[in-house]
Amino acid sequence: MSFRRIENAPDNVAALVRVDFNVPMADGRMSDDTRLRAALPTIRSLQAKGARIALLAHFDRPKGKRVPEMSLKQILPALGPVLDSVDGLLFVDDCVGDSVKTALSALGPGGVVLLENVRFHPGEEDNDRQFAKALAANFDIYVNDAFSAAHRAHASTEGVAHILPAYAGKQMERELDALEAALGKPKRPVLGIVGGAKVSTKLELLKNLIAKLDRLAIGGGMANTFLYAQGRDIGGSLAEKDMAETARAIIAAAQGKCELLLPVDVVVASEVKAGAASRTCGLGGVGAEDKILDAGPETVTRLLKAMDESATLIWNGPLGVFEIPPFDAATNAAAKHAAALAKAGKLIAVAGGGDTVAALNHAGVSGDMTFVSTAGGAFLEWMEGKALPGVEALKR
Ligand code: ADP
Ligand code: MG
Repeated sequence: MSFRRIENAPDNVAALVRVDFNVPMADGRMSDDTRLRAALPTIRSLQAKGARIALLAHFDRPKGKRVPEMSLKQILPALGPVLDSVDGLLFVDDCVGDSVKTALSALGPGGVVLLENVRFHPGEEDNDRQFAKALAANFDIYVNDAFSAAHRAHASTEGVAHILPAYAGKQMERELDALEAALGKPKRPVLGIVGGAKVSTKLELLKNLIAKLDRLAIGGGMANTFLYAQGRDIGGSLAEKDMAETARAIIAAAQGKCELLLPVDVVVASEVKAGAASRTCGLGGVGAEDKILDAGPETVTRLLKAMDESATLIWNGPLGVFEIPPFDAATNAAAKHAAALAKAGKLIAVAGGGDTVAALNHAGVSGDMTFVSTAGGAFLEWMEGKALPGVEALKR
């Protein structure tokens, strides 16, 4: 994918940098600083070019009003140490106007300021042109490092990119390069895994994937709907029976293009509970009271073999109820195998999705995958084949 990268940005500029500082909070305190640390590569590259940097972000949903509890000021004590500039980091209590101008003029090369929550202004989510211009004022370039917000056409993610010369930040760049390697121009054969709870939430994704992949393994609750659609008895499993027709249409559309891998055996229990008595059975062995909660060992063996035969893997959605052992077995086995292949350089393994990230962490293999996207909605929309406004604006 061809987009502007920081290397090509001019030196000694004033840079407006859109970051994702929508950090998780617990009991009024920031519970995880991953997103703060993730902005560091971009900040360091810009500092190396002598840029003066203003960090711009949204936090929570203030809906266009100043909500003190949603001020980004509260992350300042954590951000200072991350940036190694305890005394140097300034906070500006707005993201537009004279206070921004004054703060910038006080900065030396490499200096950083944090701007107030951009969603305090209604123009942000309205993608108002005048507001985008106000954001752009005082700056020479715009850098977007917030892939997770790129599916939204807001002033700070899209509007401003049409006003200032726009560049992808380092995190954005990594994400785009990984996504391009997985679905844009992938090394074939490409295998997909789609799991999770429901077909209805992933319909667009399934349709896009069968058009692009060589093989697609379907797991989790959504596999139950497919099995049901094929006339299998699925007992009391989670399934969307009204999606049976859709599932059959997907199977028909995949024919001759993309090989579908559906479960050939399953793990069932009568309750979704830790330590519930479970058993493995073939597709004919699911009882009326049984719930299918995981893929069976034969299904897993086939999936691992399909990974061995693939050059690229794209994965969204766990294969079972991974939160409750032993129904994490298939997801764990698949995650470990994919990570081992990726680590050995035999597979480009890209995964994303809220619960998928949790499942890979649970399996302890996130670090060995080629790329794990934490972008949630943006990642899913990209997997659905949609153009992301924040990314489109960086293309050239
Ligand atoms: P992601 O957030 O990665 O996109 P989803 O939200 O689509 O993933 O799906 C994750 C959820 O699917 C998990 O909470 C998991 O427990 C559930 N799930 C997986 N398999 C089953 C199953 N067989 N029955 C019920 N729920 C399932
Ligand atoms: Mg989820």
